Amino acid sequence: MSNYINEVLEKVSKTNAGEPEFNQAVKEVLSTLEPVVNAHEETYRKEALLERLCEPERIIVFRVPWVDDNGQVQVNRGFRVQFNGVIGPYKGGLRFHPSVNQSIMKFLAFEQCFKNSLTGLPMGGAKGGSDFDPKGKSDNEIMRFCQSFMTELYRHIGHNLDVPAGDIGVGAREVGYMFGQYRRIRNQYEAGVLTGKGLSYGGSLARPEATGFGLIYFMREMLKENNSSLDGKTVIISGSGNVATYAAVKATEYGAKVVAMSDSNGCIYDKNGIDIKAIKQIKEVERKRIKEYKNIHPEAEYFENNGEYQAIWNIKADIALPCATQNDITLEAAKKLVENGVFAIGEGANMPTTNEAIAYLLENKILLAPAKAANAGGVATSGLEMCQNSMRLSWTFEEVNSKLDAIMTNIFKSCKEAAAQYGLGNNYVAGANLAGFIKIEQAMRAQGII
Ligand code: NDP
Repeated sequence: MSNYINEVLEKVSKTNAGEPEFNQAVKEVLSTLEPVVNAHEETYRKEALLERLCEPERIIVFRVPWVDDNGQVQVNRGFRVQFNGVIGPYKGGLRFHPSVNQSIMKFLAFEQCFKNSLTGLPMGGAKGGSDFDPKGKSDNEIMRFCQSFMTELYRHIGHNLDVPAGDIGVGAREVGYMFGQYRRIRNQYEAGVLTGKGLSYGGSLARPEATGFGLIYFMREMLKENNSSLDGKTVIISGSGNVATYAAVKATEYGAKVVAMSDSNGCIYDKNGIDIKAIKQIKEVERKRIKEYKNIHPEAEYFENNGEYQAIWNIKADIALPCATQNDITLEAAKKLVENGVFAIGEGANMPTTNEAIAYLLENKILLAPAKAANAGGVATSGLEMCQNSMRLSWTFEEVNSKLDAIMTNIFKSCKEAAAQYGLGNNYVAGANLAGFIKIEQAMRAQGII
């Protein structure tokens, strides 16, 4: 790796000590930028371009007090990381999960910059959330928490400033409560301040489906380029939330058979093909554990997680789609996937594969669709939601879906062309980073030292 990149990585690890996920994300990106960095090293050094790229423009951390159903006051921590607004208003989801901390927020916001750049839409990178755990909370508790969260966040966002959306633990219900509180405080109807809204108040058709569908459109293009397709393939999908379920729906439409899905406790294996309606009923409507699937389909098998990686990665398949959380595919899991004959992996979740696992998979010629590109359909459709809000118009499902398909096809093309330009073959991981970086780099240099 170039000396300059190594120096920056060292600086980043010193200034961000104790933030493993953030350091991992920075290393993953910078280690692939060498061809461009080498060509401009002198300028980049002088302008501290990579140092600026790795330093968030702003981090907001705040207290979120709320009252539970027993009248007890609870306190959580809220975050918004506005990482880089050079190509458009900050944009990125909100995550409510007990694991949320500054490192996870920063890695997600950093990744978001490149992802948003790849969509071709004018959106900067941000991410936010809280260590609040929505599991087991009543509807009223969720509402009170969302209202308290927005009571602080509202002063840092706006349709031309920063536009949050959902992520783990934040779906249409939470976005609705937050939008209501924002509108009440601001006393104006600013539809484009949040995306992932309900259809009755400014949401976009196809937004719920977008990340999962987009992942499969990207996979379709990647497989086509490599003389393959989804048709007749077996697929395993980690997670059973928004991204996982819609990826399962679209993969099935393309003729694949989804044989396993998971949640944070374990996975369900159904050799006849997963009944996606049953998964949606259990996880989205009843908000229960995935093992309940056996009550509907007793012939299915359930495997509890008890090893170094999620049990789902032990199941044989052609294609694996990690759609749960970060660092889901460890090196050990990657070895198991290769041993089991998986030939393509599509990252629906953000940073689901460790850096060691990425290296191993690429060495073993596995086709790897990187998250920044492959899961960009969600934010791209959020961009389309903002567009409809600005025009005060709504497009049909078909219009949004066909725009999403075109965007994903184009993102794949950008990754492929960037990889080819730098002689990297079908290393789409590097291709995505390079293509995403080039646009940000141009905008940063044009806008001076800021
Ligand atoms: P959801 O909250 O809808 O679903 C998350 C799923 O992942 C659940 O099945 C959950 O299981 C599982 N999960 C969460 N944490 C863990 C864990 N530590 N170990 C194992 N399983 C876990 O979230 P989304 O589907 O929206 O998000 C999934 C991933 O996709 C995230 O990485 C997110 O950042 C990424 N993403 C989401 C986008 C979107 O539009 N929603 C856009 C782009 C990326 P359980 O029910 O047990 O908690």
